[in-house]
Amino acid sequence: MKFETKCLHAGYTPQNGEPRVMPIVQSTTYTYDSTESIGKLFDLEEAGYFYTRLANPTTNAVEEKIANLEGGVGALCTSSGQAATFLALLNILTAGDHFISAAAIYGGTFNLFAHTLKKMGIEVTFVDQNASLAELQKAIKTNTKAVFAETIANPAMKVLDIEKFATLAHQNEVPFLIDNTFATPYFCRPIEFGADVVIHSTTKYLDGHAVQTGGVIVDSGKFNWANGKFPQLATPDETYHGIIYTETFGVAAYITKARVQLMRDLGATPSPQNSFLLNLGIETLPVRMDRHFENAMKVAEFLASEKSVTQITYPGLKTDTNYQLMQKYLPNGLCGVISFEIGKNRKRAAQWLDALKLVSLEVHVADIRTCALHPASATHRQLTSQELQQAGISPGLIRLSCGLENAEDIIKDLKQAFRQLEG
Ligand SMILES: *Cc1c(COP(=O)(O)O)cnc(C)c1O
Repeated sequence: MKFETKCLHAGYTPQNGEPRVMPIVQSTTYTYDSTESIGKLFDLEEAGYFYTRLANPTTNAVEEKIANLEGGVGALCTSSGQAATFLALLNILTAGDHFISAAAIYGGTFNLFAHTLKKMGIEVTFVDQNASLAELQKAIKTNTKAVFAETIANPAMKVLDIEKFATLAHQNEVPFLIDNTFATPYFCRPIEFGADVVIHSTTKYLDGHAVQTGGVIVDSGKFNWANGKFPQLATPDETYHGIIYTETFGVAAYITKARVQLMRDLGATPSPQNSFLLNLGIETLPVRMDRHFENAMKVAEFLASEKSVTQITYPGLKTDTNYQLMQKYLPNGLCGVISFEIGKNRKRAAQWLDALKLVSLEVHVADIRTCALHPASATHRQLTSQELQQAGISPGLIRLSCGLENAEDIIKDLKQAFRQLEG
């Protein structure tokens, strides 16, 4: 099946007389004929549903679809993107471990890494993703266990050299985890470029309609967890009678452990209702992404020609420093998010945003409705000036997420806000 077809048909194949639309199985529990069959589920000897915290038919269908779209062997849906990133790392890191992350990442992820994981004894080193491989190698320590970055950095809109990061990870025998939220598997499938684990905030483009929060972790099945660095996966888990994930689950060891151990213990489960809404969004992903890109190109070209705009970052523009990387990793298009500045002044940016009429102020991106945000006073508010700079965010930066309206209407609204600034 081609990508567009998978978006509609992967993960759920109704049998004779069954509902055409994937049903919502809004049930926490499942019933069995004998205590013995339930026992087998608990011993992981048989696959099946025992409790919705661990697995649910509606959620599983979406997981299968997303794994298929990304080219992975399995996926685990979570209650938010934050939960996905947290579980993806906690699945392989413990106190005393270290990992490397690109500095240009989502503000929430930055806080998770720099503060919450640190309190748990897991240390991060932030690196400049444009540094050379040799430079990046210097950040590796003996206890480094993972490398992390975003395909397209939110909100800096930098495109990652995915192969460079995969090489950095693999030459040190650790996995490369990538947040593919802004690219979506329609525009980029990082596993094809060497990523081992792919993460999404499904709250964004995969849903697309701003109706549910969710996350997903996709396992490529390609990393060798039995290389001596990951005892969590390659030594007995006493909570399952000494099961060894790499031996019992083979290529699906990582994603199985994330589900049966971490989801069991931490419980960041999506509701079946949300999984249904997420699936509905994914069905139209290719159509929406093409339009998001088309509109964003028109808006970016307008902004580039507007005299009040002092700086613009949209890798689809030929003048953008990331244009070459985009051609390599996202040749068919980008998401609808544009970063730009109207000078360096926090207040001027806020004035312009307040003058918008059609475009709404939202703490969100990837909505089908065009929305805008001022990161320095919202998502990245907690960051110090130095941290802001590291993350590629200036005080005057505006993040505009182009929706699916007619591009002329979006541009008309931006124009009238610029004229108000002048007035
Ligand atoms: C929004 C976002 C997250 C966090 O996801 P939530 O669903 O809001 O928890 C993580 N990474 C990126 C790139 C995001 O845009």
